[in-house]
Amino acid sequence: MQKAIVIGAGIAGIATSIRLARQGYEVKVYEANSYPGGKLTTLQHGDYRFDAGPSLFTLPKLVEDLFLLCGEKPKDHFTYQIKDSICNYFWNDGKTYQMPAGVDNIVDSLVDNFDANRTSVERYLKRSKLKYEKTAPVFIERSLHKISSFINKETIMAMASIPKLGINTSMHKINAKAFRNPKLVQIFDRFATYNGSSPYQTPGIMSMIPHLEMGIGTYFPNGGMVNITNSLVALAERHGVSFVYGTKVQRIIKANGAAIGVDVENEKLLADIVVSNMDVFSTYKHLLPEKDWPLKTLAQEQSSSALIFYWGISKSFPNLSLHNILFADDYKGEFEKIFKSKTIVEDPTIYINISSKANPSDAPRDSENWFVMINTPGNFGQDWDALIAEARRNIIIKINKILKVDIESLIVIEDVLDPRLIESRTQSHRGALYGTASNNKLSAFLRHANFNKKIKNLYFCGGSVHPGGGIPLCLQSAAIVSDLISRDRPLAK
Ligand SMILES: Cc1cc2nc3c(=O)[nH]c(=O)nc-3n(C[C@H](O)[C@H](O)[C@H](O)COP(=O)(O)OP(=O)(O)OC[C@H]3O[C@@H](n4cnc5c(N)ncnc54)[C@H](O)[C@@H]3O)c2cc1C
Repeated sequence: MQKAIVIGAGIAGIATSIRLARQGYEVKVYEANSYPGGKLTTLQHGDYRFDAGPSLFTLPKLVEDLFLLCGEKPKDHFTYQIKDSICNYFWNDGKTYQMPAGVDNIVDSLVDNFDANRTSVERYLKRSKLKYEKTAPVFIERSLHKISSFINKETIMAMASIPKLGINTSMHKINAKAFRNPKLVQIFDRFATYNGSSPYQTPGIMSMIPHLEMGIGTYFPNGGMVNITNSLVALAERHGVSFVYGTKVQRIIKANGAAIGVDVENEKLLADIVVSNMDVFSTYKHLLPEKDWPLKTLAQEQSSSALIFYWGISKSFPNLSLHNILFADDYKGEFEKIFKSKTIVEDPTIYINISSKANPSDAPRDSENWFVMINTPGNFGQDWDALIAEARRNIIIKINKILKVDIESLIVIEDVLDPRLIESRTQSHRGALYGTASNNKLSAFLRHANFNKKIKNLYFCGGSVHPGGGIPLCLQSAAIVSDLISRDRPLAK
């Protein structure tokens, strides 16, 4: 049996291990942490459970596909709820808006709440769907770095429609043209943060992201986001994958221009293929010699990072839902601070995720588990302790004002995650949440490929490589890698 080594048990590493096991490889996953999932993990503090990283779940089909691939019924192992409300929005001036699920409901509610023009909203959502459907098969579901991806009708059609897709303008410009109300523009601008970018810089094609949430829907895994990780690790193990935790890969071993294994705790472990789920920048920097580094690719701007307070709150808030946003007044200024000044604004946009709204056992009765997040720059060695203390004060002032509470007196548990910790716990370069930023029109093409062009048998999956960050794209990267491997090495068994 041919051997595959996967470096890292992030969501893409786990999914890749399942796919390679199905191809007939003997798969071993080496994970530096004592737990799987990387960013997609959980924290327990007393009676409060928190999803540590991702909180928004879209495209559950991509998780279910892995069970189906293994001949198992997804519902026997992984279940989820479809959410009937998408997000509660709040502004400093007292305006609130609860976005329902379903395109028709969304259109009605945007017309009612923002005096939006019905035709403009319908046209926008239709275009968002069209952009998604035209580009996903080309830019998301295949390697962008193999000529074979481009020689087919679908790709040629998608390429031909690029000007219409809005690649030459920014997401914000598209939104500002479509909607009069600045608050509505802000709601649609926020989708740039779904891949850690700025709406003022990310290309207009990214206005396909609303279709995921509004057209296809938002979901919540029963038992919490971490059940995506747990159910897939269990699936992998049922199909022969072995996971070795608390074990850091130290080097990728090469011979005759090919990867032939890894060094782990000073032991050489040989394999026929090596797949790195470690952030691509860190893979080159820590596991390969400098002469192998693709300098231009590695010099790219990273996506934003985050500061998160995990708060056990001894009260319940009926006006909050699973996802809540408290918008900043100066949205443009906030992104400039993040990407240009590399600091945090006084009035940040605050995201509050409360998983106990969907999974009541995550908090004691009449209490809630708050995941309070703001977007931040990456880790450039700023004085984080000072920035965090100041941000905490400002977050509390803003929450108190908007929700009319004294939130500090209700915090019974607190934990914090910051860009330094994201970087050290997952090896994400600068603590980026989603690999490289999509802050220019060529980002999709410049992201690192799922294979190494010079080192044979070395592949990459995860949020730092094609097609990008976020759970759906990470799962897609696993499918692309496994497809590349089966094409490169058809006789694996
Ligand atoms: C706070 C936060 C909020 C987010 N919100 C969302 C959201 O709502 N929805 C969404 O879809 N996405 C969200 N994301 C992004 C999403 O979490 C990531 O894109 C995705 O989980 C990345 O998965 P990955 O496969 O790239 O691996 P990672 O999660 O980056 O894990 C990589 C793994 O490799 C291991 N590793 C690294 N180096 C080595 C080594 N040398 N040897 C062995 N193991 C190694 C690490 O320990 C780690 O476990 C969020 C991320 C964060 C941090």
